[in-house]
Amino acid sequence: MSIKVDLSKCKGCKLCAKACMYGAIDIVEKKAYINNNCTLCGACVSACKYGAISISKKKKTAFNEGDYEGVWVFAEQKQGKLAGVAFELLGEGRKLADELGVKLSAVLLGEKISDLANELIFYGADRIYIVDNPILKDRLDEPYANTLVQLIHEHKPEIFLAGATSFGRSLIPRVAATLETGLTADCTSLAIDKKNKFLLQTRPAFGGNIMATIICPNKRPQMATVRPKVMKCAQRDDTRSGEIIEETILKPTSLRVKLLDFMEELNNKVNLEEAEIVVAGGRGLGKAENFKLIHEMASILGAAVGASRAAVDAEWIPYSHQVGQTGKTVSPKLYIACGISGAIQHLTGMQTADNIVAINKDPDAPIFNVANYGIVGDLFEIIPAITAKLKEVSGG
Ligand code: FAD
Repeated sequence: MSIKVDLSKCKGCKLCAKACMYGAIDIVEKKAYINNNCTLCGACVSACKYGAISISKKKKTAFNEGDYEGVWVFAEQKQGKLAGVAFELLGEGRKLADELGVKLSAVLLGEKISDLANELIFYGADRIYIVDNPILKDRLDEPYANTLVQLIHEHKPEIFLAGATSFGRSLIPRVAATLETGLTADCTSLAIDKKNKFLLQTRPAFGGNIMATIICPNKRPQMATVRPKVMKCAQRDDTRSGEIIEETILKPTSLRVKLLDFMEELNNKVNLEEAEIVVAGGRGLGKAENFKLIHEMASILGAAVGASRAAVDAEWIPYSHQVGQTGKTVSPKLYIACGISGAIQHLTGMQTADNIVAINKDPDAPIFNVANYGIVGDLFEIIPAITAKLKEVSGG
């Protein structure tokens, strides 16, 4: 949208300046001029008796519609292993590409990663762009972002999807900012507005109280990140075939950041996002030491340990264990919530679990609305009893 004053019609009557709540109109030598405070609210347009001010709602696109085509998925890998979210994005990307009638491509960057390409084709990609280069060995934002920007400039996809992993969250905003396009982070669903070919990017907003659907009408590509475990993984089909395109980096990056060392988190025995069973503790545990009840039960079940934000904020457990809107999204076969009330921001991260067991002394706790099995009572009695029974049946 843009606003214009037709100076030949303007009489300098100041009605527009009086109507403007933002001080956005200067009257200079009996003519109205709009300054940078303008919010395009339109109050001045209605106030002007002479029809001198107009707002143009003409769609202003900074790209040629026909130039951009295809859906791209960033196939994140770490040390030669593809991230689970890459397969989930291929599942979703396939649907979007089919709806648009275009190709689905995966972008694979790293060093000595070429043998992963076929797997991406088996999971739905029509075409793989590979950049296999020592500069991409360590997952540093700078060379990865520069390479992605180069590929996007060259091939012009209309949609670009990536995982909202810790790497994706740091890398993809840099790519979007360099391309000067929009990015919707942490989408929970994606769809196509077929009439306009817009990507409808839906994500929780205002603390999870509403779902907002966001579009990027004026820039390309339309970029979105999706959290791991939110979308369904694509089906593997090893009869599929596709095109593999090896790309080279045109402008090698001089690196400003060097990776000195890499340390795995010591007590991260089971990967929370990939775990089949999660035992999670909340404020109901009362203090940090009581998390040992959760660790004990998790250890017998071979489960990962999760936590509510209240427990993390109280510094009872590191942030890497937080489940929810501002933590991790999990989708295990079994989620055992102990002393967690079930705030919407926590539910966002775990309600797709196949089975939810809740232990809470408050029968009205909202967690019971999503639980398949609820145990109303004191967790300090219930957890040790369950752990003892599990030890007994497992002979441990
Ligand atoms: P509480 O709500 O205090 O619940 C404790 C529960 O323990 C109660 O239901 C109580 O009945 C029960 N209890 C107490 N003692 C016992 C006992 N002895 N035996 C059995 N039960 C007992 N939260 C998240 O978890 N993850 C997020 O990612 C997240 N992101 C957020 C983002 C935003 C923008 C905002 C505003 C909030 C976010 N929150 C998040 C916070 C969320 O709103 C809740 O405050 C938080 O989830 C509450 O944690 P809790 O259930 O452990 O604590």
